[in-house]
Amino acid sequence: MALDPPTMLTLSIALAAAAGLYLAIEWRSIRESSLLYWSAGFATISVGSTLALLRMSGLLLIGIWFANGLLVLAHWLFLMGVARFTQTRLSRAWYLVFASWFALLLLPDGQWWSKVMLLANSLLVAVLTLRASLLLRPHGKSLSIGAVQLRYVLLAHGLFYLAKSLVAVVPGTLIDLAAFQGQIIQISLVEGTMAIMLIALSMTGSERHRREERIARLAARDPLTALYNRRALEVRAPRLLEDVSPTRPGALLLIDIDRFKGVNDLHGHLAGDRLLITLSEMIRSHLPEGALAARLGGDEFVILLSNTSSACITALGGTLREQFQQAAAQAFTTPEAVTLSIGATLFDQPPASLAALIEQGDAALYDSKRGGRDSIRLVDRTLASDEPLRSA
Ligand code: GH3
Ligand code: MG
Repeated sequence: MALDPPTMLTLSIALAAAAGLYLAIEWRSIRESSLLYWSAGFATISVGSTLALLRMSGLLLIGIWFANGLLVLAHWLFLMGVARFTQTRLSRAWYLVFASWFALLLLPDGQWWSKVMLLANSLLVAVLTLRASLLLRPHGKSLSIGAVQLRYVLLAHGLFYLAKSLVAVVPGTLIDLAAFQGQIIQISLVEGTMAIMLIALSMTGSERHRREERIARLAARDPLTALYNRRALEVRAPRLLEDVSPTRPGALLLIDIDRFKGVNDLHGHLAGDRLLITLSEMIRSHLPEGALAARLGGDEFVILLSNTSSACITALGGTLREQFQQAAAQAFTTPEAVTLSIGATLFDQPPASLAALIEQGDAALYDSKRGGRDSIRLVDRTLASDEPLRSA
């Protein structure tokens, strides 16, 4: 199948220009510098492909060396964008790519000129693209779907260019860059148009997914303590609660600071905020595996435990109360001790709802407050219907 190179190149010019513009517009709303690098990369491809058309008018230096150099520059910009996206520092050695391209100017004319030019161009593009794909490898944390797509699209594009460079060294292959002759050049023009679309789409996808994840993460957290908020707890609690059975009882601890208003009044709102953060850090550091913790609002926190026992609840409650009272006493002097009241409930059947469970915890907490504060009240619903109360 013979493909008309000028038509394919014109298609690439239009697609790359559209991709560059699309990414630039995306940058206006997302403001991630990687999008600017990628947009510049596509703009460079558009200019390079326009100049490549000039080789048919005999302008070989501009039409081949300069145009292909712009293709290398575009992939270098893609790599820089990926480095920004993954927050990786790249070695300065990557600038040597351009030194090697300038060295090609010294290449003497002759039958090898086209082959060496194609080999160098393909190798440089392959190395830059494969490096970018490698940067998108998950490092400890998982990658978003968008970034995984970009990783594989770049990998396929890089491998294609690697194969292209191998074809260049096979003796007898026809490669005439000036006349766009040789099957590999024609296949490459087709691959180019596909790659432009796929790379541009996965670049926007990767940034969008990341932004959505960031928004979802922020929406799930209480801004002061970074613990889950009530809405996030409602989303996550059902999985924990479904797992509750007589052999794996669950528990809820509702924690409220005693005389917290006094801290705000005597030492200011900022001191109150610091105390809330101190408590959240304590909760986080003592949270057993598989448990959930959230700030419900004000000075009220909740812990949901799975596969637990009344002994575990009492121990956890005791540790939190003791450490909190010490930390509060060290931080400020108050007329009365700033302590914790905890209402807890232990259950061996999945509850009707999280709200119902919180209501039970609230009743136990109210008991603790009414009993003089600085205590834990545990309602053990695993034993009998008369709900014996224990306090410490
Ligand atoms: P009690 O012993 O009965 O629990 O009374 P309390 O003084 O601790 O006050 P209560 O729990 O009834 O009310 C919580 C107070 O916490 C009300 C509000 O002034 C304060 N508060 C709520 N949110 C914040 C916050 O984000 N930062 C600070 N510093 N204070 C807050
Ligand atoms: Mg309180």
